[in-house]
Amino acid sequence: MPDSLLIVGSVAYDNVETPGGRVENALGGSALFGAAAASLFAPVHLVGIVGTDFDRAGIAFLEERGVDLTGLETAEGNTFRWTGVYEDDMNNRRTLATELNVFANFAPRIPDRYRGDRIVFLGNIAPRLQLHVLDQMAGPEWVALDTMDMWIRDAADDLACVLKRVHMVVINDSEARALTGKTNLAVAARSILDMGPRAVVVKKGEHGVLLAVEGEFAVLPALPLETVVDPTGAGDSFAGGMLGYIAATGDVTVSGLRRALAYGTAAASLAVEDYSFNRLRGARREALDERYRWLRSISFLPDPHDQERHNA
Ligand code: AMP
Repeated sequence: MPDSLLIVGSVAYDNVETPGGRVENALGGSALFGAAAASLFAPVHLVGIVGTDFDRAGIAFLEERGVDLTGLETAEGNTFRWTGVYEDDMNNRRTLATELNVFANFAPRIPDRYRGDRIVFLGNIAPRLQLHVLDQMAGPEWVALDTMDMWIRDAADDLACVLKRVHMVVINDSEARALTGKTNLAVAARSILDMGPRAVVVKKGEHGVLLAVEGEFAVLPALPLETVVDPTGAGDSFAGGMLGYIAATGDVTVSGLRRALAYGTAAASLAVEDYSFNRLRGARREALDERYRWLRSISFLPDPHDQERHNA
């Protein structure tokens, strides 16, 4: 029986503009993207907050997949709303508006039956709230944390505290540089390890990911997709896929983490092929296994001695 994965993060309505089109009121947020990916591997416990305007019918598929939504609180007011626009290369995005609404008063309450969960994803929320979540847990074995520039800038002390209490940091390249002041990503990853966690994953968008764990590095490319509709949620789907796999296997050895990274990459590749989690909604585990095989085939490096043998 796989472990349950606890996911705490934002639940949002997103307005997104890409060079190819736009959507309004699309379901999003770190918790929902994370759950949409992770639930393909393991049971998910979700903690977040929505307003009275939130239509739960849009996430009924998560319940059908066994996601427990007891921890999704409804408060008077509107759901968190994010508006962003992507530049032509789809790698850079600008936030046009962040309307916190009910998210401004979010104080995550972990239901009793989630408190013993062994795997935890702390999505991008205030580090103070991430600490509050950990204070309610019985002693999880693997906690992964995401964060963003705003917290690195405005909540550095809380972030330093929570970094000492997590096992893994999942962060993008510009955030890794902002957090450490190091331009070189390998150096930045090592200095994040010095802040407390056992493993760091630096996400580099279409250029893949860098893992630093126990003094070693591993790299994985992103899949060379020819259709990218909307990169929103790629990072959270990556984290969800990776942690869902860890919850399913309990394997946090270096090779287990490499496999988890590949499943995260597979989940992210599905997420970006449509708006919101439209693609992940209909996906099955087999689609991720197929992408895993594709990633493996494009990452394969022949043994250089094979050439010598060929010439002999
Ligand atoms: P990603 O593309 O994986 O980095 O995550 C995109 C999601 O993050 C969107 O669905 C947004 O709703 C959500 N988001 C954007 N800004 C914030 C914020 N300040 N706090 C929490 N979630 C956010």
